[in-house]
Amino acid sequence: MKACLLRRTSPIEGKPLEFADVPAPEPAEHEVLVRVHMCGVCRTDLHVIEGELPPGKSPVIPGHQVVGAIEKYGPAAKRFKIGARVGVAWLHHTDGTCEYCRMGAENLCDHPTFTGYTVDGGYAEYIVAHEDFVYAIPERFSDEQAAPLLCAGIIGFRALRLSGIKPGGCLGFYGFGAAAHVAIQVARHWDVQVYASTRDERHQRLALELGAAWAGGTLAEPPVKLDCAIVFAPAGEIVPAALHALRKGGTLVLGGIHMSPIPSFDYDLLYQERVIRSVANNTRQDGEDFLRVAAEIPIRTHTAVFPLREANRALNTLKNDAISGAAVLQVQE
Ligand SMILES: [Zn+2]
Ligand SMILES: [Zn+2]
Repeated sequence: MKACLLRRTSPIEGKPLEFADVPAPEPAEHEVLVRVHMCGVCRTDLHVIEGELPPGKSPVIPGHQVVGAIEKYGPAAKRFKIGARVGVAWLHHTDGTCEYCRMGAENLCDHPTFTGYTVDGGYAEYIVAHEDFVYAIPERFSDEQAAPLLCAGIIGFRALRLSGIKPGGCLGFYGFGAAAHVAIQVARHWDVQVYASTRDERHQRLALELGAAWAGGTLAEPPVKLDCAIVFAPAGEIVPAALHALRKGGTLVLGGIHMSPIPSFDYDLLYQERVIRSVANNTRQDGEDFLRVAAEIPIRTHTAVFPLREANRALNTLKNDAISGAAVLQVQE
């Protein structure tokens, strides 16, 4: 099969992904073989490729927002029909037995595997996944519309939940890429006022188009005090500015898997019961709940489609903030 293979981490400008022929995987016991139609491009892929995350598998095929159709079962798999359209996301598998899994926090599992990081992902014509970790894709979404929902969407949804934002509340977004452009649609559906701080003017315009009450530069002060805020951008210097914008008792959620160092700041910024918390992965329940809400609203993703062989270019464009919404790789022509 054709796949984009990462042999050695490097800045994306060096085009580290090799468009190669590799053997297609075979589904084991409870796995399904999925023929990939589209695969979303996520900033986490960039962190994997550029080596900002500790190495998982090498060589590895990145990609964890996979939409495709089931082509074959492993010997014990039975949950889906052949041809069913499914999504494969970041959480590839968990042990199901550690203390976190047993308390319903499988996103914090001690022995997880992650798609496109510790196991091969969806920048390829085929992928295998455990049937219990695969999502049915709601019919109303095309492949292209659905792909960005599988990480940007689900993680943004978990970040919204962890922020504790209430209807009518004021919510700040720092960074306005793939995750934020989906999360704002959920927030507006919940009657939340969104204040978007982002350096790129195209992203500010998209935020306003999608119903933001205000959009401004990354470190510009929103016109109201925020009940909660979510930092989507991987830049630690945003944290003190976002804390400054929070009202007393407000919550700041850090939505990324990687962030540059957070500068030190005066305790006053945190005092008055402000809270900072991170988001790590998601549970399958988050995914199921989000896809249901996304279909009800319905969410409309803004996408830029690139052919699979141009994955390096797609990632480079993402790195330069030049994508409005989400990048998606077209795998099946
Ligand atoms: Zn576990
Ligand atoms: Zn992701």
